Amino acid sequence: MTTDTEEAARRLATIEDAISRAAHLTDRDADAVTLIAVSKTQEADAIRPLIAAGQRVFGENRVQESQDKWPALRDEYPDIALHLVGQLQSNKAAEAVALFDAIHGLDRPSLLTALVKAMDTAGKRIPCYIQVNIGAEAQKGGCAIADVPALIAATRAADIPLLGLMCVPPADVEPTPYFALLAKMAREEGLDRLSMGMSSDYETAIMLGATDVRIGTALFGERPTPARPVPASGRGMIRNTPGR
Ligand SMILES: *Cc1c(COP(=O)(O)O)cnc(C)c1O
Repeated sequence: MTTDTEEAARRLATIEDAISRAAHLTDRDADAVTLIAVSKTQEADAIRPLIAAGQRVFGENRVQESQDKWPALRDEYPDIALHLVGQLQSNKAAEAVALFDAIHGLDRPSLLTALVKAMDTAGKRIPCYIQVNIGAEAQKGGCAIADVPALIAATRAADIPLLGLMCVPPADVEPTPYFALLAKMAREEGLDRLSMGMSSDYETAIMLGATDVRIGTALFGERPTPARPVPASGRGMIRNTPGR
């Protein structure tokens, strides 16, 4: 093993241990938790050591970036599963369906329509998670809580495999109530999977029932470039006011 691979293997083992501990604390099987390595903004050279260390499930948040990066890697490692964990524009639905094995950002009827069309054209079905705007944040993607039952019904009626719910809780506040709420919503709808928990809170998420944790920084280190560059008008968009 090269040094890079050893370092990746060490980080992976640390996180897998933490996943096991969190699962066992709540009497769950650690195998029921899927670790999605979020490789957004990471170059292929940064991803390879993690693949060499045995990781096979990866997450990206941008279609274009994934198209540039993943086809070559997947030719080399056909057993890799690639999840789209970010927002998806309807006009990218066909590309997303072609590239990804799961889509975590289904959050509105217009996107559902685009995905159905893309999946019909491609002649395949890609499993989806409905993303819920669990903290009712104006700047965040995700379906409003009140609209979730209707979107679930529409997704099921469209014969799209619906695996579960996904959320990104508000930053800088205790995530527990948000994870608990998402878990309750999934239970009430008879959905098995919960995509929740990132580098800073995945153990809490697992203790509240997460089946898919999406981890970037804790596996790769700090991202080399911002995942979402701040737009020129960015300063006016910061709505995370203190005291929330
Ligand atoms: C970037 C990202 C993650 C990973 O975040 P880390 O804090 O780096 O673990 C998880 N989920 C989504 C939707 C993301 O965009």
